[in-house]
Amino acid sequence: MAYRAPVAEFTFLLDKVVGFDAVTATERHAEATPDMVAAVLGEAGRLCDEVLAPLNRAGDLQGAVLENGVLRSTPGFAEGYRAIAEGGWVAVAGPVEHGGMGLPLTVASAVNEMMSGACLALHLNPLLTQGQIEALEHHASEEIKALYLPKLISGEWSGTMNLTEPQAGSDVGALSSKAVPNGDGTYAITGQKIFISWGDCDFTGNVCHLVLARLPDAAPGTKGISLFLVPKYIPDESGAPGVANDLRVVSLEHKMGLHGSPTCVMSFEGARGWMIGEEGGGMRAMFTMMNNARLGVGCEGVGAAEGAYQHALGYAMERKQGRTPEGTIVGHADVRRMLAGVKADVLAARSIALSCAVALDMAAATGEADWAARAAFLTPIAKAFGTDVGCASAEAGVQVWGGMGFIEESGAAQYYRDVRVTAIYEGTNGIQAMDLVGRKLMDGGEAAARLLDEIEAQSEAAKAQMPDLAEAVWQAAETLRETTDALVARPMAERFGVAVPYLRAFARVLGGHFHLRAAMADPSGAHARLARFYITRLLPEHVGLLAEVAAADAELMAITAEDLAA
Ligand SMILES: Cc1cc2nc3c(=O)[nH]c(=O)nc-3n(C[C@H](O)[C@H](O)[C@H](O)COP(=O)(O)OP(=O)(O)OC[C@H]3O[C@@H](n4cnc5c(N)ncnc54)[C@H](O)[C@@H]3O)c2cc1C
Repeated sequence: MAYRAPVAEFTFLLDKVVGFDAVTATERHAEATPDMVAAVLGEAGRLCDEVLAPLNRAGDLQGAVLENGVLRSTPGFAEGYRAIAEGGWVAVAGPVEHGGMGLPLTVASAVNEMMSGACLALHLNPLLTQGQIEALEHHASEEIKALYLPKLISGEWSGTMNLTEPQAGSDVGALSSKAVPNGDGTYAITGQKIFISWGDCDFTGNVCHLVLARLPDAAPGTKGISLFLVPKYIPDESGAPGVANDLRVVSLEHKMGLHGSPTCVMSFEGARGWMIGEEGGGMRAMFTMMNNARLGVGCEGVGAAEGAYQHALGYAMERKQGRTPEGTIVGHADVRRMLAGVKADVLAARSIALSCAVALDMAAATGEADWAARAAFLTPIAKAFGTDVGCASAEAGVQVWGGMGFIEESGAAQYYRDVRVTAIYEGTNGIQAMDLVGRKLMDGGEAAARLLDEIEAQSEAAKAQMPDLAEAVWQAAETLRETTDALVARPMAERFGVAVPYLRAFARVLGGHFHLRAAMADPSGAHARLARFYITRLLPEHVGLLAEVAAADAELMAITAEDLAA
């Protein structure tokens, strides 16, 4: 079954579930009327169905290669990218003054999810460019903005993100790339970066690298890191790509999946770079890109889940085994359970990602700190839960396909292999969970409490219409509140061992809330039936997770490294 972008579902969620009306009620986004948003999503969906989805398999079978130092991308990717760029899809939320559509990030997130569902490997390229656009918009000089933003926004040039080094992965502060002033306001960047997605590209006129490096005598750790823009070709006076910069792709990684996306080892050999933001402010500037990218990667996970789901559903509707009323395996209770589980989780993860985007849009439109705090709180949940759902859905997809799922021709395995990295890159899901219980609870749990207040108020209001479902969601929120209060009272070091179950429990409860809203909006339809399934079967997982969160840290840390090796 070919991928079909779920445009109608996005329209439903935006209109009824994730509070997007608050965004369109702001002056900044008054033009984003429901008709206009529906038209934009419909157009993006058509591109996904007709142009991007047909490229997905090619990206797996014929990934990018490096021939004599020259990168060659998957046949067809150049044309697919051109269609993305020409449609303006690189910068749906990009600034209008530099050529962007200026639409809410919520709409951009929906587009990102659909494009990732259609072709994850290709769409990673414009996704990284989007992050770079945002980082430059917030931290670059006017001169750099004027030169680079129009070209990145139009898709003429692409952007990358260079953090990782062999000794500096999750611990970015351990990086050692150097930046030495050239005396003319530019810097000479030297060092090796690994795992750089789309570190080269044969269908954009220039590749602009955002590179983290240290000035001579910089402080150790993250405080001594600065951010530099290092283009593959140095723009000449007219802004056109000029002489080649001193950098190269050393090799491409051989990966488990996502073969269409070249993952590069990069060597910077005194390459000319321009500082972005302040000296020592590299992490702050890069975080603008990373936060944008974290939500984007969460959307990648959900998109891949949707793709794997449609692919499995198509098979389940055709495959005959045993006797069922439908005549195919979709009639078997266990197959139905797997498919319903994925569909229900996709709604939960998609709604979390969209509501994170709504909070970001509201923060930008109103300047209110509460919205910014909500966005910050939801970002690690959107990233980790979205990608966990992506991985679990692709796994369920293989299972629904049975033995054929293990055979490459079916395509089920590609979803499984491609999506796996989304739980690792952009900060592993473990690091996301630590961010949630660490930095994001540093307000004493205020942002979490405000969210839980809203969930409880909403379930109170739903009690008259759907008493059992509303009561279950209210109760789950209350248990989560008690656990959150207890967690905030624990020393930071004790929180990390329970960070992952806490994040997942929070996502589960948020999922219950969004399912309840969907059921209220569609009380006799498929959304209500799916909500009943989620709330009675999947939401209870939070009880076990929160019991784990409440457990003392001592039991975990009592197991020594020697015990593990015994
Ligand atoms: C296909 C692919 C594309 C990528 N693209 C890019 C890119 O474009 N740009 C870029 O800069 N990087 C990129 N990366 C790198 C990616 O972001 C890192 O792999 C990731 O951040 C994890 O770092 P690491 O691989 O060094 O793992 P490690 O940091 O060594 O982690 C190993 C394990 O230890 C855990 N761990 C580490 N530190 C802690 C801690 N303090 N507390 C608890 N657990 C911890 C991790 O969660 C993980 O489970 C890419 C990676 C891949 C595989």
